[in-house]
Amino acid sequence: MFYIKKKHKKVPIEDPIYTTCPMCGVEHEVDLTDVLTTGGDLYGTQVYCHRCSVERAKQHKGQEWAKQIIREGV
Ligand SMILES: [Zn+2]
Repeated sequence: MFYIKKKHKKVPIEDPIYTTCPMCGVEHEVDLTDVLTTGGDLYGTQVYCHRCSVERAKQHKGQEWAKQIIREGV
């Protein structure tokens, strides 16, 4: 079990865990298992919110891909 200490008391790290999107600043939940199993760490990893993730993917994969994803409701 991992925990943080606050005023000398153990505070367990429990779901949900939150972070802020580095692009728009919105607070959102993250799955720490995903972060840690994909090579991320607790200090240097930034996780984009769903909306910004789609926007970034559009820029990399193009508009046709985006239309398909929007149709599928992802
Ligand atoms: Zn965002």
